[in-house]
Amino acid sequence: MTKLANLLLAIVILAALSTAAIAAGDTLAEIKRKGVLVAGVKDSLPPFGYIDEQTRRIVGYDVDFARAIADKLGVKLELKPVSSASRIPQLMERHIDIIVATTSNTPQRQQQIDFSYAYFFTVQKFLVKKGTVKSLADLEGKKIGTAKGSDSEQNASEALPSATILSFDDYPQAFLALQQGKIFAVTTDEAILAGIRQKAPNKEKFEIPDFQISDEAYGIAMRKGDSALRDFVNKTLLEMEASGQAKEIFEKWFGPQSATPMSRAFSITADK
Ligand code: GLU
Repeated sequence: MTKLANLLLAIVILAALSTAAIAAGDTLAEIKRKGVLVAGVKDSLPPFGYIDEQTRRIVGYDVDFARAIADKLGVKLELKPVSSASRIPQLMERHIDIIVATTSNTPQRQQQIDFSYAYFFTVQKFLVKKGTVKSLADLEGKKIGTAKGSDSEQNASEALPSATILSFDDYPQAFLALQQGKIFAVTTDEAILAGIRQKAPNKEKFEIPDFQISDEAYGIAMRKGDSALRDFVNKTLLEMEASGQAKEIFEKWFGPQSATPMSRAFSITADK
């Protein structure tokens, strides 16, 4: 290439990079200008994001956090269903502004996207037919279902190298395979497994044995470089913790009266 061609190429690359940088950093301003926050949420995972049978609207723990952020911004909330596999591509392609969809903060994902402080903590476990599994060793060499694009896939293959990990489009499909006897267990976060089990008409036939293979901290995910938006989300999360709103949302979906009672052994802090 000639010197001039090199120079032109450099200018084109620099221009593209700076446009990308401006675009990436501008999501907060763009949300305010549009008057809408577009959040990617799950729509088949009670109690995080699922369709309420009466209202036909998507509701859940994640949805309430997305709504609180939209309210704080003074904008409307638009919900777009995402799967574990589609959520990061949807964010990168700018179809959504944030992901509030049971997304664990992992070092691998941090290379691609930014996370807020953690707003939910859980652990990865297994959902099995009652009486079939007492410890991790009972799952050696078995077929285990999970969802494509989840970190549950990776955790399971590391914890059980001899098992066959089958990745379904989503967890409800994996649970169907368990009910049909096609797989031996479904693995993902305990809170998700509890929601799936709870919805099953024959739920007493299934259980979540008391051992875990990982700790999972859910963060709200944003495009890298969207620091104004990330700061706003983080500030909102800390305010929600201080005001009791975050705990109220937890109690609504996981309190003693809920379908999936759990205790809140965490608070939202700037440490995680
Ligand atoms: N929290 C895990 C993850 O982010 C599993 C749940 C999910 O697939 O959304 O991959």
